[in-house]
Amino acid sequence: DQKEQLAIQRLFKKEGGILFAHGFDKLRKYYHVREFEKKIREKTKAKYALAVSSGTAAIKISLLAMGIRSGDEVITQAFNFIATAEAIASIGAKVIICGIDDTLNMCPVDLEKKITKKTKAIIPVHMLGVSAEMNKIKKIANYYSIPVCEDVCEAFGGKYDRKSLGLIGKCGILSFDFGKIITTGEGGAIITNNQKIYNFAREYHDHGHKNKKIARGNDSADKFGFNYRMTEIQGIIGKVQLTKLEKIIRENFKRYNVLQKALSKNFRIRHIPNNSETTYEAFIFLEENKNIRKKIISLLNKSGFGTKNLPDAIKWHCSYFWGRGLERKQIKNSIKSKNKLSKSIAIPISLRKKIKDYQALAKKLYRIKSI
Ligand SMILES: *Cc1c(COP(=O)(O)O)cnc(C)c1O
Repeated sequence: DQKEQLAIQRLFKKEGGILFAHGFDKLRKYYHVREFEKKIREKTKAKYALAVSSGTAAIKISLLAMGIRSGDEVITQAFNFIATAEAIASIGAKVIICGIDDTLNMCPVDLEKKITKKTKAIIPVHMLGVSAEMNKIKKIANYYSIPVCEDVCEAFGGKYDRKSLGLIGKCGILSFDFGKIITTGEGGAIITNNQKIYNFAREYHDHGHKNKKIARGNDSADKFGFNYRMTEIQGIIGKVQLTKLEKIIRENFKRYNVLQKALSKNFRIRHIPNNSETTYEAFIFLEENKNIRKKIISLLNKSGFGTKNLPDAIKWHCSYFWGRGLERKQIKNSIKSKNKLSKSIAIPISLRKKIKDYQALAKKLYRIKSI
C-alpha cells in the first residue's frame, strides 16, 4: 500500500537514491538491505540472515555452502516447486524425489528408502504454509549425518516446536517473489544459526567478496562467487512488508477457520503436524470421487475463488511432470504422490476475499458433499 510507496520515494528524495546494498557510504543515510536482514533475524530469531535476489538463488547458494558438488545426490519431495529441482541440478547434483505423506510434504518413511552413500543433502519443502514432519526427518538425517536445508519459500512465518521454520535444519530458504506471503517483487533469503554457512553464502552471493573492512576493489579475488545481491528498493519494500506478516497470518486464519469448522467432518483435510503453526496459505483436502471433485472445482472457479496450484498448476508443483529435467527413475518415484495430489484441491486463502465470502463458500461446499 502507500507505506511501501512512500518509503521508496524517501529513498530518492531524501536519502541519496543509492540502489546498491553496499558502498557509497558518504552519499547514503541507510543500508536498507542490511536492515531488512536484521529484521528477518529478529522475526525468526535466526543468528544470521542473508538477503539475495531470489529463493531459487538462495537454495543454490545453500547447497554450495553445505559442500554439495557435482555428482552428489540431493533428496527433495514430489510436491514442490520446480525451482528446488532446478537449483540442485544447476550445480550438477542429482535430484532424488521422495514421496509425500498426509502433510503432503516429505514422507519420512520414504526418505529413509531414498538415502544412499551419495546422499549429501535433504530438502524438505513446507508447501503452502504447512510444515513437514521435521522431527522424524531430522532423526533420519542425523542418523546418516546428512544436512537438512528447509525450503520455507511458501511458509515464512510458520513454526515447528515453537521455532521458526528454517531453523530446524542447518539452514532455511525464504522467497519474497510476488506470489509469496510477503513480497519484494523478486527476492529471497537464507536464514541459519551456522556461521560457516552464512560466511560462505555472504561471500558467494557477492562475487566472493569477503565481508571484511578491505575496500571491495582491493579484496583479493581468491574465490569465485556470483552476483545474487538484493537491491535497496527490494530491501525497503521488504522492511515494510515484514511489519505486516503477523497480521496477514491472523487474517488468513480467520478465513481458514471458517472452512475448517464447516468442512472438517465431511472432508479429508490435509494433515498439519500437531507441534506446528501454519500460515494458512490454502485450505487443502482430498476428494476421491471424481464427479464431486469436478463439481467442487467448477464451483470454486465460478465463484471467483479459483484453486491454488492444486489442481490448476499441478505441472509446476509435482515432480511427476518434470520429465525434461528429471531422470525416468525419479518420475517413477513421483507416481504415488502424483495420484494423491491429483485428488487434492487447494482453496486459496486470500485477504482480498471477506470472511463472509468464505462462509458462503463453505455452505455451498457442504451441500455438494452431502447430496
Ligand atoms: C517460490 C518458490 C521457490 C523459488 O523462489 P523464487 O524467489 O521465486 O526464486 C522455491 N521453492 C518453493 C517451494 C517456492 O514456492
